[in-house]
Amino acid sequence: MALAETLESLSATFRGPLVTPGDPDYEQARRVWNAMVDRRPAVVARCTGPADVVAAVNYARENDLPIAVRGGAHSAAGKGTCDDGIVIDLSLMRGTRVDPASQTVRAQGGVTWGQFDRETQAFGLAAPGGVVSTTGIAGLTLGGGFGWLTRRFGLSCDNLLSVDLVTADGGQVVCSEIENPDLFWAVRGGGGNFGVATSFEYQLHPVGPIILGGIMGWPLAQATEILAFHREQTRGVPDELGISTAFVTAPPLPFVPDSLQLQPAIVVIFCWSGDLDEGREVMRPWLDHAPPIQMVDALPYTFMQSIQDDLAPAGRHSYWKAGYLADLTDDAIAAAAGVAAKVPSPFSLAELVLFGGAVARVAENETAFGQRDGRFIFNAISMWEDPSATDANVAWAREFHDALQPFATGGVYVNFLSEEGPERVAAAYGDEKFARLARIKAEVDPDNRFRLNQNIPPAK
Ligand SMILES: Cc1cc2nc3c(=O)[nH]c(=O)nc-3n(C[C@H](O)[C@H](O)[C@H](O)COP(=O)(O)OP(=O)(O)OC[C@H]3O[C@@H](n4cnc5c(N)ncnc54)[C@H](O)[C@@H]3O)c2cc1C
Repeated sequence: MALAETLESLSATFRGPLVTPGDPDYEQARRVWNAMVDRRPAVVARCTGPADVVAAVNYARENDLPIAVRGGAHSAAGKGTCDDGIVIDLSLMRGTRVDPASQTVRAQGGVTWGQFDRETQAFGLAAPGGVVSTTGIAGLTLGGGFGWLTRRFGLSCDNLLSVDLVTADGGQVVCSEIENPDLFWAVRGGGGNFGVATSFEYQLHPVGPIILGGIMGWPLAQATEILAFHREQTRGVPDELGISTAFVTAPPLPFVPDSLQLQPAIVVIFCWSGDLDEGREVMRPWLDHAPPIQMVDALPYTFMQSIQDDLAPAGRHSYWKAGYLADLTDDAIAAAAGVAAKVPSPFSLAELVLFGGAVARVAENETAFGQRDGRFIFNAISMWEDPSATDANVAWAREFHDALQPFATGGVYVNFLSEEGPERVAAAYGDEKFARLARIKAEVDPDNRFRLNQNIPPAK
């Protein structure tokens, strides 16, 4: 049967818009954050609720169509779209309900962190989430998820209480510690392999609404000195501090001196979510290093959560290469700074995020997400606009990664993977966890319908 005819059968059971080639919205609807990924789905099914998700999953299975699932469309590898298949797009599903008494929230699968923070902060509450407000809660949480509050309260997936899933057979299940506990273990790090998450329930925590945060920066020439200082200064630092450093090109913003604008720089970005006076004391040593770039203040937490939005707008070409470091040795710093100096695009950055704290206090086997013992996670994020510059920018991210390999733990974070092959996905979990994930996958998705992701094939 021609696709147009089968689509009529879908539209009989589907309430949201079905966007197909030729529709005015199609060009926009097929796009994802990473412009390097340019695919043409047969239909973008913009779901309005779980019933639409069920209809879309059933339709895809009955017509044997490839399925891409999209929350916030921020997959680094651009997994939220596909050629000739169906995109199950949850971006219209943006409902949230905070219960202040239990300090929990239920949020639908299309919510972004900006929306999540706005609704939860209205009650003075928050859960650890991504540091760019346009990122989806769904993909980020299912792969693990870390942000400014992670050292204090754990990964986003550590704060999950339950997830509502539509499975490959069109069934709806709830998973939590009590119901379907195996599946609940798997979705906390195993990504979108097990079904479409229509909503998430999180434990929240009192945060802010005012935190101490901001950005400090120095010329690239000071990078080795600043990073060695940062390494020592962050040892034993309280968990209220979320902090990262990044090699960037300094933006032309008012708090950047003219002489440093558009020049390579090393920046420290932080969010202190505890007592403000204590935070000022904790941060004093960094400020004593007289950062010429400085924008540090008591800020609304929601502002902190969007402070990096302009660094990573949708629509640029992007390629990522990441890993973990057990520590930031002098040799690792020298290697990183050497490659950073050669960056071909002013939009690119290479970040080093401090892990530890609450992340490391969760037992390795409690969630599918593993590798909780790395001290830093590094990520070279190439971003560029001219497609003809692709090779040079991909090569730079790889070179940064390769330069740090001698110091890396070998760990992999699925949410930072580009298109890197099945071995790298398996390496994110290790043999034992990967085998357990594959067994669970075989139970809920034996035909691997949900395979356009960082895929865990079903066990045979
Ligand atoms: C600008 C930017 C900033 C980022 N910042 C952070 C950060 O601070 N911390 C961090 O940990 N990561 C961060 N990431 C990485 C991020 O975790 C991943 O890109 C994540 O996949 C984004 O989720 P999404 O829903 O926006 O993406 P999507 O592209 O919509 O989804 C990615 C994948 O997740 C799965 N998925 C999405 N929605 C669902 C659903 N409802 N049900 C089932 N599966 C689903 C699918 O497999 C899909 O292919 C960032 C990424 C970008 C581009």
